[in-house]
Amino acid sequence: MTHILAIDQGTTSSRAIVFRRDCTIAAVAQEEFPQHFPQSGWVEHDPEDLWRTVLATGRAAIAKAGLTARDIAGIGIANQRETTLVWDRATGTPIHNAIVWQDRRTAEMCRKLKEAGGEPQVAARTGLLLDPYFSASKVAWLLDHVPGARAKAERGELAFGTVDSFLLWRLTAGAVHATDATNASRTALYDIHANGWSDALCALFGVPRAMLPEVRDCAADYGVTVPELFGAAIPIRGIAGDQQAALIGQACFAPGMMKSTYGTGCFAILNTGATAVTSRHRLISTIAYRLDGRTTYGLEGAIFIAGAAVQWLRDGLGVVPSAAATGAMAAAADPGHDVVLVPAFVGLGAPHWDSEARGALFGLTRGTGPNELARAALESVCFQTLDLVDAMRADSSAFDATVLRVDGGMVASDWTMQRLADILGAPVDRPTVLETTALGAAYLAGLQSGLYPEPQAFAARWALDRRFTATMDETTRSRRIAAWRDAVGRTLSRSGV
Ligand code: ADP
Repeated sequence: MTHILAIDQGTTSSRAIVFRRDCTIAAVAQEEFPQHFPQSGWVEHDPEDLWRTVLATGRAAIAKAGLTARDIAGIGIANQRETTLVWDRATGTPIHNAIVWQDRRTAEMCRKLKEAGGEPQVAARTGLLLDPYFSASKVAWLLDHVPGARAKAERGELAFGTVDSFLLWRLTAGAVHATDATNASRTALYDIHANGWSDALCALFGVPRAMLPEVRDCAADYGVTVPELFGAAIPIRGIAGDQQAALIGQACFAPGMMKSTYGTGCFAILNTGATAVTSRHRLISTIAYRLDGRTTYGLEGAIFIAGAAVQWLRDGLGVVPSAAATGAMAAAADPGHDVVLVPAFVGLGAPHWDSEARGALFGLTRGTGPNELARAALESVCFQTLDLVDAMRADSSAFDATVLRVDGGMVASDWTMQRLADILGAPVDRPTVLETTALGAAYLAGLQSGLYPEPQAFAARWALDRRFTATMDETTRSRRIAAWRDAVGRTLSRSGV
């Protein structure tokens, strides 16, 4: 058995990637699935779409690699996080569509719990905020809105799980109801310090304890697939939430190492070692991974609009021909002409957490053209990263080492990566393998299978494509950062944030 199958179940598509013994990619399969928006602010997935696309891409990737199930030493799963499913234990049938992480239908419930003084308890135990983003309020919504669900859940007839748990249940035909510590840490029901489900939080959100999966290490034995699915039983040996999987795929195993993924939005996680840092700047404290029973924590920040700003220029305004063209346009922009874009299209995420703010452009003149707008869009990603990194630095002395490893579709832009290094005043490292999420899932399963080495040896294999180092002079840097801060200050919906 020489290969690992990584399943990356994402928000818009499911991907399956077969990795070889040397961690290189043998085959990839990908399938998109429909998004459902039943009301404004609601986002759902049909669980059968998730299952169908995972199975189909898994089979396709194995076949494309010219292999059979007998060649696969283990399956690793990385998944969209927080998305919530509840299913019937007897039939494996979900009682409702999955409620996706972006869904805001429980905003009112969360607001009431906050007003009743619930947030400090949630933050202290889970490292999270009291926000609809996390699973707990979504579970409560399902129990309160699907007829008969609460009574069934209390009788132990229903199971809750994030996407990994649901896939695991299906892969093992109901033999295993489990999740890993990273996914558990996103539910707002899991005490990340005690490493166990919290009865107090179950009571706060009204979620019966009997519904919850067993929590295992990220690299662990999660049972075997029923043979009919892939032609032979394959052990499932690794699970992590997608952002944590990317941290692992980037081999950020030492405190102070950080990964930042630039796709539609941007998610950054800083490894803080054995210490769960309590943020004073509204970052999230989370479980980065748990291996051999030892928990490593992370500080996390999310930016809602990264590559989406480029999409807006291309598809909304029509002023850039393609995403790839923006780098050359930014390079050709007038250096003396400071245009700043604050891309608060859906509010601002960490560390501002201003859901009412809306986007703004500053510094426009008659000379402003597509090149200046392209530069402003790309730079906005760099400035937002600076805000996150500054918050992390202020929160955590573990940031001393300052290693930033990047991945995601946007890191193809050399101009953006150079500007990121310039604005941060720190090096930015782009790896040769950009499929870091799938690689992280594969690594966990490969580690558990004995196919892949211990973390330190795996980290030694991490290969640099290019290091971007800061070259901007300090006067220009300070001027640009001051212009950004001024622009954000004028964009926030309330003062004193
Ligand atoms: P997601 O996983 O969120 O769908 P990807 O990781 O595939 O996103 O990244 C796609 C994003 O990266 C898009 O928003 C796109 O505009 C941006 N992007 C891709 N290539 C470039 C480029 N060369 N320069 C700037 N932005 C880019």
